[in-house]
Amino acid sequence: MSSTSAHRELAELLTTGCHILAEQSILDGFGHLSARLPERADHFMIPRGISPALVTPDDFIVLDLDGNVVSGGGQPNSEWPIHASAYAARPDVQSVLHSHARLSRIFSLSRRKLRGLLTGSAKEWKDGVPVYRYAGLITTRERGDVVAATLGSGSAALLRGHGDVVVGPSVSATVLKAITLGQNADAFHELLSHGDEPEAWSDEELQAWVMPRRGSSEGAAGQPNRAWDYYVARVTGALPFR
Ligand SMILES: [Zn+2]
Repeated sequence: MSSTSAHRELAELLTTGCHILAEQSILDGFGHLSARLPERADHFMIPRGISPALVTPDDFIVLDLDGNVVSGGGQPNSEWPIHASAYAARPDVQSVLHSHARLSRIFSLSRRKLRGLLTGSAKEWKDGVPVYRYAGLITTRERGDVVAATLGSGSAALLRGHGDVVVGPSVSATVLKAITLGQNADAFHELLSHGDEPEAWSDEELQAWVMPRRGSSEGAAGQPNRAWDYYVARVTGALPFR
């Protein structure tokens, strides 16, 4: 496959991801989803500065890790360093999301840590999703590097009073992780709203939540990715009912 058609395919995949996240109210007028170029570890594809809900495959630009536009037309989003620093710090990361998701903002301001409570979250976030605590938009690589350090080896971090950053080994994994983060936050938020306090899982119980990947939301090799297929159908009008 030529790099031109490979880039077009990646732009189409990112467009679908943006639309799924917008439909889930994770992205709105702001926020952005990107992917590292498979053939250039120091380049990534990201929409120009427009609402992700309105993105088409023609709206993507390629940036280097210093924020220079390598190809495509339009201005980068001001918070491009969130992406550049995550790609620089984490060779395993192939896709990065920055969102202003409502529940991420709420928990970023809470003195209570957003802990993992549900099946897909319990183990990874048993000690809480880390929080980047500093004020201001992430418009420099210096700030981006602090966000990446907050993220560590994890898949998500909250940005205090601002939103979150979610990373993954593929576009679909990052999108689905952001949905999982929101569902977990929703359950926790609901319980707290009732004045309830969820019981912590024991280490033995957490081990029981480590499941084989077959048919899971991560879409193991050779297996259908059920969750991704479902969310794609929601934004492409392919659900077999209305
Ligand atoms: Zn932001």
